[in-house]
Amino acid sequence: MFFRGIEMLLTVSIMLFPRVAPCFESDVHYGLTYWLAQKAGFLPEEAEAISLGNQRVDGGLIENMKSQLQYACLLPYEEDSLAVQALHFPSARKVPISPDRRTVTAGSRESSAQSEKLIETARGKAGFMLQLFGKALHPLQDAYSHQGVPVAVSLEEAGIKCDDQLSMSAPRDRQSISVHDAEVTASWPGTITPMARATFDALVRYPTIDGRVRVPKKWENISSELSSFAVARTKANKADWFRDRGFSDVSFLDGISLPDGDGWRSIRWHGRKLPELNAGSTQHNVDPQILDFYRGFFEQWLTGSMKFGRLAPFIADATSKNAQRLPLELRLWLWRLRDHGAAIPFLFDRTGGPKVIRGARALMAKPAAFERYAVPTDAVLPLLYESDAPSPVLPFIVLDLPSSAKNRPRAIAIVKLLDAPYETLGIVTERVDGRWFIISVVSTFDY
Ligand SMILES: [Zn+2]
Repeated sequence: MFFRGIEMLLTVSIMLFPRVAPCFESDVHYGLTYWLAQKAGFLPEEAEAISLGNQRVDGGLIENMKSQLQYACLLPYEEDSLAVQALHFPSARKVPISPDRRTVTAGSRESSAQSEKLIETARGKAGFMLQLFGKALHPLQDAYSHQGVPVAVSLEEAGIKCDDQLSMSAPRDRQSISVHDAEVTASWPGTITPMARATFDALVRYPTIDGRVRVPKKWENISSELSSFAVARTKANKADWFRDRGFSDVSFLDGISLPDGDGWRSIRWHGRKLPELNAGSTQHNVDPQILDFYRGFFEQWLTGSMKFGRLAPFIADATSKNAQRLPLELRLWLWRLRDHGAAIPFLFDRTGGPKVIRGARALMAKPAAFERYAVPTDAVLPLLYESDAPSPVLPFIVLDLPSSAKNRPRAIAIVKLLDAPYETLGIVTERVDGRWFIISVVSTFDY
């Protein structure tokens, strides 16, 4: 097995309080961008290319499948941290550098540097560069949701040390009391209009395509429609907003951090362009015993129907309760919920009280609460091993962790669930008397 520069903090706690970053999601990067592009005079297929290019920055292409769980914590990798900073946390000063020296400013030159460059270089070939232009609009938009001093992720309670100089989550004052509040446009309605205005202005200035002059709508008529977009608090409400404006396909809202809401019908978005995973794709140079353990666990967790108790054999002490968190098996099942937006308040709950447990159970008892997957690879998004070396495309990545205080071997499997596409999970295990057990689950929010 291999181990790379992970410092272990001696800790008895196995429960974690992951930090979550509010970042705009596909309602903004795809839907709103598409709508604004049409208002700026682009044809539907042009608007589609721009918004796809923008949205795919958030894990829609394999090269964008980056997580600070890897590049800042488990496998420190400056190159990926730099790439993430440029797309989601634009700042004049580049990583590696402490977060307080790389403040993100909405409307800054750094945030629009990429879109300005495209507006220049696309002349004469503007029709071919629409997806790149969409990608370049991403940091312009994220500079609004990430404005302030980025927060370095902390997973110390799981004994995982992260490098502050490479790590980035949204500023503390934009991480509101509830994680749910922090991620949705409704929490920051005042941010939406200036963000949309900056996007619209860039769209209007994009060079003409094949000599066709675009006639943009007046900004006053556009801005008046934005407040109802910003305050929508369910996927159903967002979908209504888009349908009222001529969108027949609202599947791009799948996976955003809002709960479904009445009338939302779960539908998969097919806008990602990712390599197929096959059952055979596997990591070499990993202890076969730990690999077998994780394979067995993923089979039980990700396929078939949900059943309490099924995961108990994989958990160190399934009956133990931490006063502040929900039981581990319950949390693992919550991560599996199809409606991740509804699961978020429970996943990040810090009381672990009976009322919360009842609420979580009620959520799971709903019809079609869980997607049925035939094989684990259907339930996950593909990952790359983040380093200089070429990596196979993998359904999950297993890494060694330093041994525990009692000298027990530890490991972690990194996985990205299709039903929680904005987050990266780490399933932490420990070997006791020759057998592996899950001791905690950590997560980072990466876009
Ligand atoms: Zn982003």
